[in-house]
Amino acid sequence: DRVSHRLRADRSKLYMADLESALHYSLRVEAARASSLSGAQLGALRCYVGTLVKYFPGRPFVQTYLQTLDAWLRNWTEPELPRAVLKEAMKNNIDASPPSVLPANMTWVGCQGSERHFRGYPCGLWTIFHLLTVQAAQNGPDKELPLEVLSTMRCYVRHFFGCQECAEHFEAMAAKSMDSVASREEAVLWLWSHHNEVNARLAGGDTEDPKFPKLQWPPPDLCPQCHKEEQGVHAWQEPAVVTFLKAHFSPANIYMDYAE
Ligand code: FAD
Repeated sequence: DRVSHRLRADRSKLYMADLESALHYSLRVEAARASSLSGAQLGALRCYVGTLVKYFPGRPFVQTYLQTLDAWLRNWTEPELPRAVLKEAMKNNIDASPPSVLPANMTWVGCQGSERHFRGYPCGLWTIFHLLTVQAAQNGPDKELPLEVLSTMRCYVRHFFGCQECAEHFEAMAAKSMDSVASREEAVLWLWSHHNEVNARLAGGDTEDPKFPKLQWPPPDLCPQCHKEEQGVHAWQEPAVVTFLKAHFSPANIYMDYAE
């Protein structure tokens, strides 16, 4: 089964199965890990769900799920939110009209690793946040709240991302330069270039899936016009990168293969 996913996945596409699997894991597993949520951590969950409602191009029943959860979280006025209560609120409601459902299985397609411990969730989480920065740039006023999605990601990673070392690395990058992002388009480029910084740092390391070597992305075969050479040195053609990211992380490039 895994092999067939791997053979079918196309690196130039996004797969709804990856996005929904990562949403399921982030909300129902990572965000619901603490015995109760309060303060900044509860704020980070509200912020994440609110941003998903605004910019995640989900299937109708998933959008309903996110809207229902968002409204529920905003209605929760007590300072402490116990895990059992949150878990209950995160259940699917097939009988609601319209139905409110986030598939609870995890199927990795574009994010399928060659072994179980490679890729999967972290790959899906990067993909979600790239998609959100691009959708916010396409669907929101460019000069307003340039950090809307990036600060949501920063909070999510700080409060919930299970890989502690990753969270520390990401926070260090964010603290250095995130605040100088001045537009939504710059936010798209910030996430792209810092993800490439992570790729460079991890290349050749033991978390690298040998079947999916870390590279500076998008490689020339995905986007030839993104690359140029200046005095014999590789450089990015940034306007072409922006155009590529907007097309790659667009609803039209999300495929339904293996979505439940
Ligand atoms: P990923 O890097 O997960 O990328 C997913 C997909 O996004 C790729 O398949 C590609 O289609 C696309 N992509 C790749 N690069 C870019 C880019 N620059 N811009 C846009 N799209 C791109 N692992 C560690 O071992 N140490 C760490 O410190 C660490 N920090 C992390 C911090 C964060 C915030 C996250 C989300 C993950 C981190 N990880 C870290 C995990 C690591 O970055 C990878 O997610 C994981 O190794 C799986 O790699 P992958 O090959 O699936 O590609």
